[in-house]
Amino acid sequence: MEQKLGEYRCLACGKLLFKGLLLLSTVEVKCRRCRELRLYAPESLDTVSFVLTADENGTLIEASREAEYVLSEPRENLIGKSITEICPGFVLADIKPAQPYHLKDNAFLLRDGKNLSVESYVVHDRDSRNFRLVNIVNPIVNSGETQ
Ligand SMILES: [Zn+2]
Repeated sequence: MEQKLGEYRCLACGKLLFKGLLLLSTVEVKCRRCRELRLYAPESLDTVSFVLTADENGTLIEASREAEYVLSEPRENLIGKSITEICPGFVLADIKPAQPYHLKDNAFLLRDGKNLSVESYVVHDRDSRNFRLVNIVNPIVNSGETQ
């Protein structure tokens, strides 16, 4: 499930302005070559997913590259945080080892205060008490969100 970052180029001259995953915000970038502002709107969220790994206490021990972009936080900052800090609806006691767990209406609290609606799957690691939280960004809910 590899995701490539989008390349955002100047529409007039083709200069690469930035790479990233645009989710909820529209970005305005000035092309230094043309000296004109270009607007980039969020792309389709259909295929955006990210994975977080936590230990049995819910402390994050790994974050995928996609998680860094979606949550706009570097991996070093995410690791060590409690899952409930960035995902307030997540209840650690609800998940049972050896049983797949599905959170249909889950949400992440983004740094700018917005909620990112996701569907999450909890998958336990066979060899440890760690678990992976696979999050699929909900395209319908998020595209209509303006709060
Ligand atoms: Zn340009």
